[in-house]
Amino acid sequence: MESRIPSLAPAQWIPVQWTPLQWCRGQLHVFLSLLAIVGCMATGNSAEPIDRGFEIVRLGKPVAVIIKAEVSENPKVIEDAASELRYHLERATGANLSILREQEWMAMPKRIEASIHVGMTSASKSAGVDVSQMRPNGFVMRTVGKQLILAGKDGGEDTPLHDRVSMGTLFAVYEFLEQQVGVRWLWPGELGEFIPRQETLSSGTWSLTEDAKLMQRQWQFETLPSAGKQGWSTEAAWHKHKIDTYRWLRRQRISRSYTLDYGEAFTGYWQRFQTSHPEYFNQLPNGRREPDSQHPGHPAMCQSEPALWKQMVSDWKANRTEMLPWVNCSPNDTPGKCVCEKCLAWDGRSPAEQTQVLKQVREAFDQNAVTPLDWWRHLGPLSNRYASYLLAVQNEARQVDPEVTVIGYAYENYMRPPQRVQLNDRVVVMLANYLSFPYEEEISREFRSDCAGWSDTGARLILRPNITYGWHNFPAHFAERAGADIQFAFLQGVIGTDLDSLTGQWAAHGPSLYVIARAQLHPQKPTAEMLADYYRGFGLAADNVRAYFEHWQALLSGLSRDRWNAFAAERDQQDPGVLNFRTFYTVAEKFYSTQAFDEGYAILDRAALAVHGDDLASRRVAFLHAGLRDAELTLAVQRAFDSSRRDGDRDSFISAREALIRFRAENEGMLYSNIAYTTFCENRTWGW
Ligand SMILES: [Zn+2]
Repeated sequence: MESRIPSLAPAQWIPVQWTPLQWCRGQLHVFLSLLAIVGCMATGNSAEPIDRGFEIVRLGKPVAVIIKAEVSENPKVIEDAASELRYHLERATGANLSILREQEWMAMPKRIEASIHVGMTSASKSAGVDVSQMRPNGFVMRTVGKQLILAGKDGGEDTPLHDRVSMGTLFAVYEFLEQQVGVRWLWPGELGEFIPRQETLSSGTWSLTEDAKLMQRQWQFETLPSAGKQGWSTEAAWHKHKIDTYRWLRRQRISRSYTLDYGEAFTGYWQRFQTSHPEYFNQLPNGRREPDSQHPGHPAMCQSEPALWKQMVSDWKANRTEMLPWVNCSPNDTPGKCVCEKCLAWDGRSPAEQTQVLKQVREAFDQNAVTPLDWWRHLGPLSNRYASYLLAVQNEARQVDPEVTVIGYAYENYMRPPQRVQLNDRVVVMLANYLSFPYEEEISREFRSDCAGWSDTGARLILRPNITYGWHNFPAHFAERAGADIQFAFLQGVIGTDLDSLTGQWAAHGPSLYVIARAQLHPQKPTAEMLADYYRGFGLAADNVRAYFEHWQALLSGLSRDRWNAFAAERDQQDPGVLNFRTFYTVAEKFYSTQAFDEGYAILDRAALAVHGDDLASRRVAFLHAGLRDAELTLAVQRAFDSSRRDGDRDSFISAREALIRFRAENEGMLYSNIAYTTFCENRTWGW
């Protein structure tokens, strides 16, 4: 709990003539809470201004009850919302509010009027609240007399830890906790809960309707499905990190009751049609319609081929569902590669330019006949053909459904917006830019240009960046850039987000992860305010912690993408294919010097001094310290690994590796890092 106290409402006097024993039917906790309420009411003696609403807690004692709806489209959401509300109010005020079923409350001979209604109770309905026509996750927060209504559009069958559940009522509770109680969730787990301490709390006077504007707000949780619990020393810690992360995501309202899981549209096409319909597939520079050796079994398509559009529409008719009603046009995870005449014509070049492009493509393809990796780059941007293809498939599908929507990716060599093709609002484009290391200004500028350009075509956009990759567990700070870029995308009218991925380096990248979540929730709030919220969690060390992250930001500020690419190419000569966004630690030494670590430790030492005696803030500083130590030990393992490759002596490598494992096992309970992610990446080269 925090020491900061928001402005307090004066105590409120509530007349009382009843005794709790008249209606309390053996429920001890209810009885005890109500005794506390009665005691508090008897001493109250002043009135509260109307704009503060009514009192919920006075001087650490409950003076209101939580009423949960009897009927809901998903009772698990109601249970969870009531429980989250009580938990945070108790942490904030020390008061443990009773949670009553509506029938219990109604049966009270002398009802406590001051009540928070979680879900659609009779009182919610009497207040004119109707969530039935709202979108999933939409909610209402309204004060009516001495009742606060927190109700929303719920649905599904699971608990809200599952992101597919519609959880409007829970979102109403989170909105209240944020706006009225001042709660912030800095990172997963109890240590990251910023809950301002306040002895007296009022409801506020609310009249807020929030109909979910986004189809989904999604942040994929990297390595959970694919990497299991590797690296975590106990099942319990791994499980806690997983559950706490899901909880944190829900608290940031990251959830998707609509799903946009369209995936690749052409999975299985090569197996199904390689013999019967070779015309569906890309024509390579050698004239053959087959995959190149970069993506065996995984060809690009011939996007200008009418028979392909018909096949896609036929598959859509057979497979579309209520949850996934759109025609999926997403390419396989490959660049566009077709060099047939019709596809090239769609690119819109002059005949002379086209001849030149084809010449270069063929030369590159022939030179790399055995391992043709990048020949397709000579095709240049293919967005005009790609946009034409989206329109062509849409036209084909309109014969079945005139209102049809098609969805595809902007990615690889169709990332840039088309210059010659206008789309429409029944085309949805998922923007898959790379917003990761080194997240320099040029990357940001390119992203914004892509985003604005695709928006200008009239298509609707999903923000689907590859984000937060590339720093491994090394401290980094890109919060303002990432937050501002996300907010820029929202200004272009994105209809959903799907971030790939949350790598969970909570101590090393904390402020950036926090701002990435908050920017999706508050697209117009200055990122500086979000950062101030984060740093406030460190109490008197707020300025030190800001300086700590700005130190790492400054360290990498001069690194351009061009410089990085040149360096990566050089590295590739020594170790072909090893360096990618998952193996950053193999070259981290180049950027993270001993001196930089020393300075980081020195700042954290000053932070620890500043919060001496403040247990919570001290533990948060220790959390950052664990992240820094983890990075330092990782670097030591990599150094020993490099040296063992030179001289064959593996002892020092094994010993450094054991020190890292030991450190993680001893500190994993802090949840400072998703150890499964770092281990998953490290296993790619260290082979332990
Ligand atoms: Zn083609």
